[in-house]
Amino acid sequence: MCIFCDIIDHKIPSSVVYEDDHTLAILDISQVTRGHTIVMPKKHCANILEADEETVQQVTMAAKKVAALLAEKTGCAGINLLNNCGEAAGQTVNHLHVHVIPRYGEADALEIHFKPSENVDLNEVLAQLK
Ligand code: AMP
Ligand code: ZN
Repeated sequence: MCIFCDIIDHKIPSSVVYEDDHTLAILDISQVTRGHTIVMPKKHCANILEADEETVQQVTMAAKKVAALLAEKTGCAGINLLNNCGEAAGQTVNHLHVHVIPRYGEADALEIHFKPSENVDLNEVLAQLK
């Protein structure tokens, strides 16, 4: 059972922002900021690592269209595109989706902090990745 597949199949109601043959974008039920939208492929895949290239391209292009729509209609100051891949990264629904989150300034409800880790040797990391 997958809640997003049920939404795509119209078994669960949703607020559709954008739809095409391969993707669906709906308002997130928890609006972290006004207009927070999630974009998903109609084809079930658990996450970005398991998705085929075509599906990733379709979702990415749909997310770009949704971002443009939100920028035009909400008057937001910026937009975050966010994909959580895996439980450790905060993924709670195992159907690939991209959050498109309009930003209205420092007072809005989303906080993302990049805190540099100390003692990471870039050469060691590069060697690990090659
Ligand atoms: P993630 O934590 O990245 O897996 O995001 C899953 C998102 O799906 C959360 O932000 C939820 O608020 C959202 N969500 C869960 N159920 C629904 C639903 N029925 N309609 C709209 N959004 C939902
Ligand atoms: Zn699914």
